[in-house]
Amino acid sequence: MINIKDLTLTELESFIIELGEKKFRGAQIFSWLSKGIYSFDEMTNIPKNLKAKLKDTAYIENIICEAVFSSSEGETKKYLFKLYDHHLIESVYMRYHYGNSVCISSQVGCSMGCSFCASTIGGLKRNLSAAEMIEQLLKIQKDINERISHVVIMGSGEPFENYDALLKFLRIIHTEEGLHLSYRNITVSTCGIIPKIIDFAHQMPQVTLAISLHAPNNSIRDSLMAVNKKYPLDKLLKACKEYIDLTNRRITFEYSLIQGVNDSEENAAELGSLLKNMLCHVNLIPLNKIEENELNGSDRIKAERFKQILEKYRINATIRRELGSDIEAACGQLRRRYSKKTGDMKQKLNEQLTMKNE
Ligand code: SAH
Repeated sequence: MINIKDLTLTELESFIIELGEKKFRGAQIFSWLSKGIYSFDEMTNIPKNLKAKLKDTAYIENIICEAVFSSSEGETKKYLFKLYDHHLIESVYMRYHYGNSVCISSQVGCSMGCSFCASTIGGLKRNLSAAEMIEQLLKIQKDINERISHVVIMGSGEPFENYDALLKFLRIIHTEEGLHLSYRNITVSTCGIIPKIIDFAHQMPQVTLAISLHAPNNSIRDSLMAVNKKYPLDKLLKACKEYIDLTNRRITFEYSLIQGVNDSEENAAELGSLLKNMLCHVNLIPLNKIEENELNGSDRIKAERFKQILEKYRINATIRRELGSDIEAACGQLRRRYSKKTGDMKQKLNEQLTMKNE
């Protein structure tokens, strides 16, 4: 059986031709799938005999919403989805002045081993298919009943470790006959898998690239991010410069401010000289505390000071609001807590469950 939601429009058209039907049926079916239809019977402009053929050869991916948590501000919603094999993944919806944005997961768990991140604690379970990435978007769009205009691939997982499915996902959601999201409104975040950064520059030059930097030198980065041993900072920045030369696009550097670890004035100055004259933007995000370690986020004053120092080096920096920290919106926290099913979590669940399953 073919997972039909995993096909790009071109692949779907070839599939339809193989079934002995006309190519244009591909676009019709593609459009239905992007509307969040889960049965071939609902595709009203598709003839009966083609529906029958489709039922015999293909299925439509569906994920189940296990729980939804709304932040107290109401601007953020966190979704816990169950996959066909019962794995749980999480996605976040954020309302911004410029539109509706979702943050989606690319893997179940993660193998990268960053010391501050909850997603990686149980290791990697498996990659998500393109269909499962699309499903997160479709389910949230249906729940909020408004168009989603922005997507960030910054949930659990390392997207560049699931590269082929990622590219497929990006192509499918960009397609005009479907969700038609602008590449410019999509951001992919990586911990720094160098070869894929260069591939991405060639293959997806319009998608925004974010790099999780989190440190101004190798010794701090080594202590926080295992990936730095394989792809150290100097090589990473060289790849970033190559990316900028190839695409002429600004890179976003993510920098989680961790109290006493990477948030001193010296750290800011070191980062400033490292990134000076680069076409980039720095997002400073006070670390979201997780219960599994002793690391704490920096306070507002420290974050402001850090930003000011970067600005002396003429580097654009923003302190990002900690959206939804009351609903455990940092990567992987909800999934872990939910899996453990503590008493207070169950209660919280019951109080806040707002969405019915499809
Ligand atoms: N693997 C990719 C994308 C997923 S993580 C990457 O590393 O970029 C998305 C972002 O959240 C990364 O910048 C990651 O370092 C950051 N992050 C993870 N846990 C966090 C926490 N507890 N507080 C703040 N940021 C966190």
